[in-house]
Amino acid sequence: MTPSPAQPGTPHEIIVGIDLGTTNSLVAIADESGPRVLTIPGERPLVPSAVRYEGPAGSPRVIVGDDAKARAVQFPLTTITSVKRLMGRSLADASGDLAYLPYTVVEGEHRTARVALPLDGGDRIVSPQEVSASILAALKARAERALGVEVRKAVVTVPAYFDDAQRQATRDAGRLAGLDVVRIVNEPTAAALAYGIGLDRDANRNRKPESVVAVFDLGGGTFDISILRLTAAPSPGETAFFQVLSTTGDTRLGGDDIDHALVALFTRELRERAWLHPTAEPAPDVRRALKQFAEEVKHRLSDADQAKVRIDVGAGGDAASRVYERSITRSELDAISAPFIDRAMRCCERALGDAARELGQSGGATDDVAARAAIDAVVLVGGSTRMPLVRRRVAEFFGLEPYTALDPDQVVALGAAVQGSLLSGAARGSLLLDVVPLSLGIETVGGAVAKLILRNSPVPARATEMFSTSVDGQTSIRLAVHQGEREMAADCRLLGEFHLRGLPPMPAGIPQIEVEFLVDANGVLRVGATERRTGKRASIQVVPNHGLTRDEVDRMERESFAHARDDMVRHRVTDLVVNAKMDLKWIGDRLAKHGAALETGQRAELERLATELRVMVESAERDWKSVQPDAMHRAKDALDRASVRLQEISITESLRGQEP
Ligand code: AMP
Repeated sequence: MTPSPAQPGTPHEIIVGIDLGTTNSLVAIADESGPRVLTIPGERPLVPSAVRYEGPAGSPRVIVGDDAKARAVQFPLTTITSVKRLMGRSLADASGDLAYLPYTVVEGEHRTARVALPLDGGDRIVSPQEVSASILAALKARAERALGVEVRKAVVTVPAYFDDAQRQATRDAGRLAGLDVVRIVNEPTAAALAYGIGLDRDANRNRKPESVVAVFDLGGGTFDISILRLTAAPSPGETAFFQVLSTTGDTRLGGDDIDHALVALFTRELRERAWLHPTAEPAPDVRRALKQFAEEVKHRLSDADQAKVRIDVGAGGDAASRVYERSITRSELDAISAPFIDRAMRCCERALGDAARELGQSGGATDDVAARAAIDAVVLVGGSTRMPLVRRRVAEFFGLEPYTALDPDQVVALGAAVQGSLLSGAARGSLLLDVVPLSLGIETVGGAVAKLILRNSPVPARATEMFSTSVDGQTSIRLAVHQGEREMAADCRLLGEFHLRGLPPMPAGIPQIEVEFLVDANGVLRVGATERRTGKRASIQVVPNHGLTRDEVDRMERESFAHARDDMVRHRVTDLVVNAKMDLKWIGDRLAKHGAALETGQRAELERLATELRVMVESAERDWKSVQPDAMHRAKDALDRASVRLQEISITESLRGQEP
């Protein structure tokens, strides 16, 4: 589709948000549907920040993104990656990075860093701004395809430590791409904005005039930690003000280090089996394959406790196949990753120390312990923050559960889009609301929803409820979080799900699972589940109203009124079916064991009542409308009453069984 110019009369000009990253870039928008990354069907949301030049030096063809990245190894001298490391820097400034860049960097005017590309007919010298402009142009085109309108303005993010020259270079890159960069925003500020931190919504609520936010950004190759001070908006409708108190990091620390440590482990073990040369480095393709295996295993271990590696090393001298197979546990990976995470945590200490001086000047914290206590929110950015170890260490260090509801790869772009929508004056009421717009609950067995927080509850809000298992020996329980006014999960909106695993096998109904819902002042919902006896815990975060427009909220509310009666009946039947099945199973088991001890008449009556209830259950499972909940309730009651004698016999027998 060719983009058409912005419609005259459109109330707000579109301002997109762009995260121009070292390895990947994204474009996002925040409109009445909430903030979202713009994608083209069939393409990934991330555009690799890789640019290849080919053809004549005078007018080369420029290829951006996936294709450039995929063939970077094939064209090392004409594919430019990590150009962000060169933006606005002199050759001398960038010298520390040069060893890691496969292409040729030369000195240009005013000692600036330039790239020399060997193309047909000679070298072409390009500036980092031009290379970044190609990436920005690709993102602009993507946004125009996704939105169907011309996009002329953008908010672009940069690291908090970028100096004026680096910011100016970023702005120039935008101009070269035909984009008016209306604002340059610090990446940590954008991450905080993505969570709605600092968006003033209710002047009456007792908000602190000042709060402190830590943004922990661990990607593939770099780590940044920033401490921001947020000064609340002076009046409703105005935006709060973020100030970077300190920013520090390590430009050579990230998920890649963990991959390399895993590769070292695989290599050592392959050498022990004499499947690799004892001293020589593995061939580049073997190394690449090992790195790929390492990264896959690492990703799987973010969700699972254990993952298998299987590498076919090919046939050996005696033509026997050599398959390296190994299972890696989460704790093994944690041990391998610990030294790198330790380095990140030491940076955090430094950042806090630096921030303490700033906070101290304003009469607040005076040392890093006090600064740590002053942190009100921690936001995670970067793919490596998906690692459970990273989340745990960050939570321990700051004494706070970090925000994880949004995709850590997208947070910065989403925040830039939020800033864009604020600047364009587009509606922002849809982004985050002062009250919970729709009820929030957990799906229970049978598909009904137990509501924990009701619609229109003011935020922050908290609620807990106890649940249990429905099957004997159940060792894991699925918790699905739903939003909506209807009674059945299928009619609500699934916000997210997680599993509480590792429960010791117990009879149904015995585990005590406390589910806690917590919506903080920024509208971020955290759901936790704890099994009381074992202390096993799992949790998830979601942004409850993310992506819902005011109209959708209204529609869901209207539907709930229209279906209220039906929904109530259905919910009741569903719960009755679940409980009746548990009773029927219990009675069936006990009858098989102790039935002989009952009087014949009693036993026949019990069996008759059980059959009557079972018929109702089966009918309700086929069609919930086919049974009357009151009748089913009566049938269940009658069966419960008739089973009293059986219960007594069962208890006596089990006590006898325990006698020495
Ligand atoms: P970024 O630079 O933010 O794109 O982050 C890339 C890094 O995140 C790479 O090292 C990835 O291996 C890592 N990463 C992405 N997804 C996961 C995951 N599920 N678990 C662990 N690391 C991940």
